[in-house]
Formats: sequence, C-alpha cells, structure tokens
Amino acid sequence: MFEKIFAILSGEDDEPAELIDDELWLSTLQSVPLLTALAADKQHRLRVLSERFIQDKQFCGGDGLEPDRAMITRIATLACLPVLELGLAWLAPIREIVIYPAPFLVRHDHPDEFGIVHEGYETLSGEAWDHGTLVLAWPDVLESGGMDEGHNVVIHEIAHVLDNGNGAFNGFPPLHRSMDIAEWTREFTAAYESLNRQLDRGDATLIDPYAATAPTEFFAVTSEYHFERPDILAQAYPQVARLMADFYGGGNIDL
Ligand SMILES: [Zn+2]
Repeated sequence: MFEKIFAILSGEDDEPAELIDDELWLSTLQSVPLLTALAADKQHRLRVLSERFIQDKQFCGGDGLEPDRAMITRIATLACLPVLELGLAWLAPIREIVIYPAPFLVRHDHPDEFGIVHEGYETLSGEAWDHGTLVLAWPDVLESGGMDEGHNVVIHEIAHVLDNGNGAFNGFPPLHRSMDIAEWTREFTAAYESLNRQLDRGDATLIDPYAATAPTEFFAVTSEYHFERPDILAQAYPQVARLMADFYGGGNIDL
C-alpha cells in the first residue's frame, strides 16, 4: 500500500540531481499564490529549507498514488513556510509524509466523559501522528495556498506538529523566551471560549467552526488563517493574531 520513492534524489545515470531545479521551483512558486506573494529573500530561504526537508523526510504514496517531484516540492515548500523564521529543527519529529489521492477514511477511538471509548470512522484531509507521520490528501493540498478562504491542510498539520513540540496537542506550542506564557493562555482561552459561545448561539463565525472542536484545532486553524488570511484573523481575534505573528515571526514582530 505504501510505496517509498527511491529515485527522487538521483537521475537515471546516477548523477546526483539538483533537488529542486529552477524550472520546478518557479512553477511551484507560480502555482501557489501564497508563495508567489512572498518577498524574494523569503522565497530564497524557503527553497533552501524545502530542499533540506526533501532530503530528510520520506515521501510515500497511499492507495496507488505515486508522488512526483512537483507534488513533493509543493508539499515540502508549504510545510517549511510555517518554520521559515523558526528553523527546520521544529520539524524534526516528522519522518515521513504519506500522500493519498483522495480524502481518506480513518478509524478513531474517542473516549467519552465517562472514559468509555467509542470507535468511529472519519473522512480526513490531513492528519499528524505523534510518532512522526504526516498524512495528506492531495486534492486538499492543491486547494491550499490560494489566499482565499483561509484553508491550508499542510500548514494545519504542521501547526499540530509545532503544538506537540512540548509533548501535548493542546494549542500551546513551545513559546519564544520573549513571549508571555500567561498572556498566550489567557488570550487563546478567551478566543476559543468566545468562538464556542458564538456557535452555541447559532451565530455565524468569521473563522472555520472546526477551530472550536479542541484547543489544538483552534491553534491549527488559526495558524492557517495567519498565513492565508491574516486580515480575517485580525478581525476575528486581534490578540490571537498578534501572538501568532510573534510566534511564527520567531520572536520578531515583522513577519
Ligand atoms: Zn487538526
């Protein structure tokens, strides 16, 4: 079922191939508005990170999909964008990326408030496992980076990896030394509770209601907006938007 891509780093004549050649890099940038919009120096740094990411990680296809260089480059670039100012070490927990041709069905066991585990199946567009596997549905990757509705499945899953950097999926990633831990907890809790109250009242929300399902989903969904539609995030939760800029800016406000 899982097919490892062995040939990606070497040409047929065993000459070491350039990881991302100029043509592939330009077509990747041009096909994703979020990448096209980056300043030239950020694009350059992103290319360096993406090449290292491709070297370090295994890319596999599920259900008969064979990832090609364009798919791998697009995913690597979107995966590295959130750590452009943080550094690639934040993505060290990821060992492999599995790409499915369509949203995939997974079995989840949900413990309820009484501790009884309910088994169920869910259709997902992406998933981050805490033992180093990132699972992505290719159609959702293609819809990421459009800077329209604020959705980006790759950034969403990478945000879960960053969140888990201190050992728990709880919407609290390791913060920079310059950041105020109490402020993060206070502002994110207030925004999360406010979103849940809005939904309980049946009100329309500015951001995707999926953010209200758990603190880790709130962090992952607001991370998507931070990169794709920071204007919507700033309108919905200005304090969260500011803290996101601090976090993803690597301690620099100017992202
Ligand atoms: Zn999620």
